[in-house]
Amino acid sequence: MQVFNTITNLQSTLDDWRSKDQSIAFVPTMGGLHAGHLSLVTQASQAADKVVVSIFVNPAQFGEGEDFGDYPRTLEGDLSLLKELQVDCAFTPSIETIYPNGVHFGVEVGEIGQILCGKTRPHFFTGVVQVVGRLFDIIRPEVAVFGQKDYQQLHIIKRFSSGVKILSAPIVREKDGLAMSTRNQYLSANERKIAVQLRKTLLQLQKNELDLPAARKQLQQYFKLDYLVVLDANTLSKITNNTSKIAILCAVFLGSTRLIDNIIFNQG
Ligand code: AMP
Repeated sequence: MQVFNTITNLQSTLDDWRSKDQSIAFVPTMGGLHAGHLSLVTQASQAADKVVVSIFVNPAQFGEGEDFGDYPRTLEGDLSLLKELQVDCAFTPSIETIYPNGVHFGVEVGEIGQILCGKTRPHFFTGVVQVVGRLFDIIRPEVAVFGQKDYQQLHIIKRFSSGVKILSAPIVREKDGLAMSTRNQYLSANERKIAVQLRKTLLQLQKNELDLPAARKQLQQYFKLDYLVVLDANTLSKITNNTSKIAILCAVFLGSTRLIDNIIFNQG
């Protein structure tokens, strides 16, 4: 596996692949890799000839007081995991390489970036769209793979990335159902036990064992509830007669850790 931290070196390898008509699949990550990320890599390797994975903790998507400084940075371990999966190339740029003119918030995401996670994290989707756009410009992949775990992010990326085919990968979970996340390591042993209640409640809601107010109330017994909503999965707006796919989307705080999860399923 080749590892690059400069654009010039990366692009000369990519150009070499392109000259041989080899297609490129790309998986953007912030590192702290776990089996969820690795499932994206596996999907990417099935979708193209070559796989590029980026590891970049993007300052533009963290708000003030959020965990940019504390975010797990485990580069060596991450690279060995990617090597085992026979990833062709890892891109590990510095902040200056990605933002030579400084981290700015020049991208306009609009209303869709201000609802749900965007309410609590107003800069988040602007920062995500900005970094993904920059990485797409540098790498120019045919395909990119994103996790359904970050469903609103996936939805927004699909809207904003013309020219790159966006594939989605299902949520990879721990044995007890908790969605894998780099941030799960922030949880204390006791919080880790409580965290399973999130998935349990979403499943009860999906099976109509609880209605929405009861599900919210149940979550509030364990967490500080950010949001729990049931929406049209294709539009992220209210369910209508035309809704074919439903999204149960949730975010909670457990102590200072923010957890998100969702269930997407067909109507009827
Ligand atoms: P991150 O490093 O957290 O920015 O995530 C990088 C990519 O991995 C995003 O597309 C996430 O949606 C995806 N991802 C994170 N956790 C999981 C998971 N448990 N299952 C599947 N994909 C995931």
